[in-house]
Amino acid sequence: MAGRIREDDIAEVREKARIDDVVSGYVTLRNAGGGSMKGLCPFHDEKSPSFHVTPARQFWHCFGCGEGGDVISFLMKIDGLSFTETVERLADKYGVTLRREDGDVRDDRPRGPQRGRLLEANKVAQVFYAEQLASTEALAGRQFLGQRGFDQAAAE
Ligand code: ZN
Repeated sequence: MAGRIREDDIAEVREKARIDDVVSGYVTLRNAGGGSMKGLCPFHDEKSPSFHVTPARQFWHCFGCGEGGDVISFLMKIDGLSFTETVERLADKYGVTLRREDGDVRDDRPRGPQRGRLLEANKVAQVFYAEQLASTEALAGRQFLGQRGFDQAAAE
């Protein structure tokens, strides 16, 4: 697995991996009103919930210990994963295809347009030589092809 994960793919992971969905796997969340949810903080010991999740902003924050962040930092912290491992795990779970800075860029940049231009050049060359073959100067060429058993269509 070489190459950095592309920024727009990381952004897509942040968007698709619903923070309330991910956090619910670890913390029992209750509606806290105003579009946010709360539960007992998994990062410090507490009796009353001060751990808040705001799904609309894809953000979590604990008023007890001051920790906070996005869905990626939550998983990194709670499961002790690296940033890349976390992004890969979430991408897998939420169906995001990750592209790397190396490889992908090298792969799809030259291929499309250049291949088209080569095919075009071959076609133009074929038409040119077929026209030349019909000219008076090409008599020797036509005789040669005839001796070799090429009919007109095959020669063109
Ligand atoms: Zn806390």
